[in-house]
Amino acid sequence: MNLAGGLPDPATYPAEELADIAARAVRDHGPEVLGYSRIDGLPALRDRLAARFSDAHVQLTRENVLVTTAGMQALDLVGKVLLEPSGRITAHSPTYLGAIDAWKPYRPQYRPFTPDGSEDYNQVFSGAQFVYTVPNFSNPSGRLVDVDQRRTMVEAAHLTGTWLVEDDPYGGLYYEGEPLPRLLSLSGERQGPVGNNPYRGPVIYTGTLSKEVAPGLRIGWVIAAPEMIAAMVMAKQGSDMCTSGLTQRIALMAMEAGLAERMQPRILALYRERRDALCQALSDHLAASFTWQKPQGGMFVWAVARDPDLDTDALMRVGLEEGVCITPSSVFDVTGRNHGAMRINFTFNSPERIVEGIKRLAKAVARLSSK
Ligand code: PMP
Repeated sequence: MNLAGGLPDPATYPAEELADIAARAVRDHGPEVLGYSRIDGLPALRDRLAARFSDAHVQLTRENVLVTTAGMQALDLVGKVLLEPSGRITAHSPTYLGAIDAWKPYRPQYRPFTPDGSEDYNQVFSGAQFVYTVPNFSNPSGRLVDVDQRRTMVEAAHLTGTWLVEDDPYGGLYYEGEPLPRLLSLSGERQGPVGNNPYRGPVIYTGTLSKEVAPGLRIGWVIAAPEMIAAMVMAKQGSDMCTSGLTQRIALMAMEAGLAERMQPRILALYRERRDALCQALSDHLAASFTWQKPQGGMFVWAVARDPDLDTDALMRVGLEEGVCITPSSVFDVTGRNHGAMRINFTFNSPERIVEGIKRLAKAVARLSSK
């Protein structure tokens, strides 16, 4: 029972629709999609993304948008453009493993912070080469950053002149409540009207089609000030030359057909039910040894052991013997320290399998505690 990964349920991938779109993309746009694409991305796709993320507060143009080879490349480019060797990153702790991996070659110093208002963000942000945050249902913690903390972060980024990376793969996965404003939008509001000029604030917004359509498309984007986009274009040239023109065209055609919007209600209902099944199973079988909060969205529950000495690396090993896999907190810590917590995914498996997985995990906890 794999409760460790961060994968969507493959049954949600719109295979039929994408097969049809892909065939039309090659037939109708052959030379374009089979040749090299522009480094900055298909102009029509950039326009579409600019329109999608513009709102009453932030005006975006094509100059604000770079198409990337999914979200991971966006994070890689952030490192390439902004990180000096041994420079400082201010980031949530625990932090997304992929981001830790992307920036490891620069051997950065990490300054952890918790977006709960307990610290002065001006101090926390000062001196950082950038701040990294996943405000919607963070990976691994599942945490949703509230509006006040979003505003405080944006204010601190503007005041201290610090780049603020808003990584948002889970912004489309709210199971309850209205989506909270993006840091990008709050930053546009803070900046005020600038005529028809494109956004020039400190937020670097990164997004992806991986969770709303399918990760195999490897389509993502960065939205940022034009000078940041220009620097990233240079870095991308030396990285992969361009994102596949074929998958960019498929993504554009899928967007024009409203594919993600049509899929969304089904995906939300499916994952909401699974989240509820996981939380119920945790209450039924693991409440004596773990605490957790039911996440309002995303893909993960973060469970913290009541006994701070419970080593979840060891739990993972015993769990594997029982036929269940979770991700221990140590992999989300830049120093590899175990915090007596674990990440449990609820999107990949059916409710029945999730319940079975938690029963097996409870056996593993009992075995570990009796050692
Ligand atoms: N950021 C976070 C926080 C993620 O969880 C993920 C996917 N697991 C990504 C970025 C990147 O995903 P992709 O490269 O598939 O867009």
